[in-house]
Amino acid sequence: MDVPFLDLKAQYAGIRAEVSEALEAVVDAAAFAGGPFVERFEKEFAAYCGAQHAIGVGSGTEALWLSLLALGVGPGDEVITVPNTFIATAEAISACGARPVFVDVDESTLTLDPAKLERAITGKSKGILPVHLHGQTADLKPIMTLAAERDLFVLEDACQAHGAEYEGRKAGTIGQAGCFSFYPGKNLGACGEAGAVVTDDDSLAERIRRLRDHGQARKYYHAEVGWNARMDGMQAAVLSVKLKRLDAWNRCRSRHAEHYAMRLGDLEALTLPAKADYGTHVWHIYAIRVPRRDGLLAALQSEGIQCGIHYPVPIHLQEAYRALGLGRGSYPVAEESAGHTLSLPMFPELTAEQVDHVCDHIRKHVA
Ligand SMILES: *Cc1c(COP(=O)(O)O)cnc(C)c1O
Repeated sequence: MDVPFLDLKAQYAGIRAEVSEALEAVVDAAAFAGGPFVERFEKEFAAYCGAQHAIGVGSGTEALWLSLLALGVGPGDEVITVPNTFIATAEAISACGARPVFVDVDESTLTLDPAKLERAITGKSKGILPVHLHGQTADLKPIMTLAAERDLFVLEDACQAHGAEYEGRKAGTIGQAGCFSFYPGKNLGACGEAGAVVTDDDSLAERIRRLRDHGQARKYYHAEVGWNARMDGMQAAVLSVKLKRLDAWNRCRSRHAEHYAMRLGDLEALTLPAKADYGTHVWHIYAIRVPRRDGLLAALQSEGIQCGIHYPVPIHLQEAYRALGLGRGSYPVAEESAGHTLSLPMFPELTAEQVDHVCDHIRKHVA
């Protein structure tokens, strides 16, 4: 039995007719760049999150970048984030001409550790960019409190946390703004590239809308230098079809997570992913920690079981960020997790037999 890490074809098979119809409607209306399908999805996604505004953009990376620009980040500024994330989080800070400053993560959730936050704040700090890793938010309350005291913004990287909640509120709606990616493999994925920013702040929303469309205040009148970062109509139409299923798909992921925990919970060699009691987890990634990770990865691979590593190298040790001069040992928890986490197959259409098959082979190898 082969078990893929992710099976987008299985998902598509279940919604094929509806997706085709949605795409045809865009072609019939010739509403390709921005336009009514994007506006409709923005309304639906804002309502889903419980935010005043959603602004559709071209990717999660653009959502982060334009949000930071709109929050006033520029050369000489520092933005605080975590080292164990996809590089886009740090890239967006760098693209503004600012400097990413890292804080190590909490041992159990692997999200920004509020206890280590204060000492990272300097006179140049502009804001905090926590990452809701693997489908679970960071512990936002202490982060929001410290941010308010020190006059910093909080921008949430919710690119892995569509539908997750923190104390009853949706990820992305607690800070000044939240950024989402609709990259195909995310819990809510487009048929291509797309992203969005959600916020309750009218002027911030206005500024991001303007930035994504060449800084236009109205057609061909440019109030500032922006970029072309519009969402396209086809992506929006597909996302409207899929958004209706997001909660059901997230429930399937939760069921698989419980199944993994039931079958693997007694293995002392493994650390299963922790679920914090402050919110809900949408299991974008199911990452276990295991001492001899690479051996287990290879063993599973040879059995046709595809796993992943999220992420093998923390940002401060990436070649691209060599200039920051941060060596090994700077962020021990993030570094330890990079060496030992293994992401097991996780997608809504996974079957109970497939989960059992993965667990059987993990048990065999670890024993
Ligand atoms: C996917 C992702 C991004 C980037 O999103 P894209 O749509 O690929 O540009 C940013 N941050 C995190 C944590 C992500 O997982």
